[in-house]
Amino acid sequence: MILVVNSGSSSIKYQVLKIETEQTLSSGLIERIGLSEGIISHYKEEELVYKKQKPVEDHSQGIDMVLKLLLHEKYGIIKDYHEIKAVGHRVVHGGEDFTQSVLIDDKVLKVLEETTYLAPLHNPANILGIKAAKQAMPDIPNVAVFDTAFHQSMPEVAYIYALPYKFYEKHGIRKYGFHGTSHQYVANKAAEMLGKSIDKVNLITCHLGNGSSITAIKNGKSIDTSLGYGTMCGVAMGTRAGDIDPAIVVSMMEEMNMSADEVKEILYKKSGLLGISGISSDMRDIEEKDEQGNARARLALDIFADRVRKYVGAYAATLGRIDAIVFTAGIGENGWEIREVICRGFESFGAILDPEKNKVRGKRVEVSKDTSQVKIFVIPTNEEMMIGNETAKVIGIL
Ligand code: AMP
Repeated sequence: MILVVNSGSSSIKYQVLKIETEQTLSSGLIERIGLSEGIISHYKEEELVYKKQKPVEDHSQGIDMVLKLLLHEKYGIIKDYHEIKAVGHRVVHGGEDFTQSVLIDDKVLKVLEETTYLAPLHNPANILGIKAAKQAMPDIPNVAVFDTAFHQSMPEVAYIYALPYKFYEKHGIRKYGFHGTSHQYVANKAAEMLGKSIDKVNLITCHLGNGSSITAIKNGKSIDTSLGYGTMCGVAMGTRAGDIDPAIVVSMMEEMNMSADEVKEILYKKSGLLGISGISSDMRDIEEKDEQGNARARLALDIFADRVRKYVGAYAATLGRIDAIVFTAGIGENGWEIREVICRGFESFGAILDPEKNKVRGKRVEVSKDTSQVKIFVIPTNEEMMIGNETAKVIGIL
């Protein structure tokens, strides 16, 4: 059994996985850590068996609660914590130091701490989770699985920005890319569906959720991706603008007298689907309003689809040959209407959507016509399973 931990600044999400059978035995969420009332939800397989509100002081107390629940006579699934063979931690940023998942020792932890400036909102919380797990289960190995690692295979031409080169050399400003665990998971599944080995497939994977990114994968390796140094660029997202002309940022500061924090707030929290529509950041709300004839909802949908389509087109040119285009994450897996809009024009590079097959939500299926040279797949992502798999590989049990 592998325990997967995704530790946020005020939350801990966890899953216990049986890797050999790809089964989730237990999962849960601790929210509002450090606030007056914490919320603990614990599942045995799919069933919510425990839900309570009580204060959770810090991550260390949170991990102790997770262990107590896993060991509990009624709600638990283990008798001794040694049944957990390793803890796999989602770590958002590995900088340039980590190109794959690693066993965490003091040296790794030190490098992670030095990398926090690249992901100030996420990495400190991930580190808290690691320290808490080490404290609670001192003799169980911990493994870090990075969102950025899969993209470390990008060539210089893709990851260097056309800025003075010293920005890269002195400040580490380059494209890192994110959602790597998800892109890698669906790429492996797509290779299985194509009946080819992963190192022989060329793919464009579209992770479309509240945050979105598109990745070009050549011979199983990421060679370009739409998120960059941070998580604001690429396609338009729920509340994030995606690619915009940097002159707008200068104008916001110089003409509109906004502070850096105000600009950040606009680009990160008030833009994207929410900003355009003025309705919501949630694709379901936008689709509902569009059906009622709301013009701004329609515009938000069209802009979202346009930006995704442009990235797929650009990556089709970068890759040359493509085996499949993959849709995943909340919108990619479920939003068949938006998939239909996105895929308009894909015929030009041999990907033909079958509108009937496409009317599906949340299932692993091919949705292209039988005659389509380039396949189009819907593949539900499972980042936790990928983290579990990576963890099992690092400790040598897979
Ligand atoms: P994620 O960040 O992967 O959880 O994805 C969240 C996004 O998926 C939100 O914009 C949701 O509106 C969208 N989503 C979830 N279910 C559906 C659905 N049935 N149709 C369209 N979008 C959906």
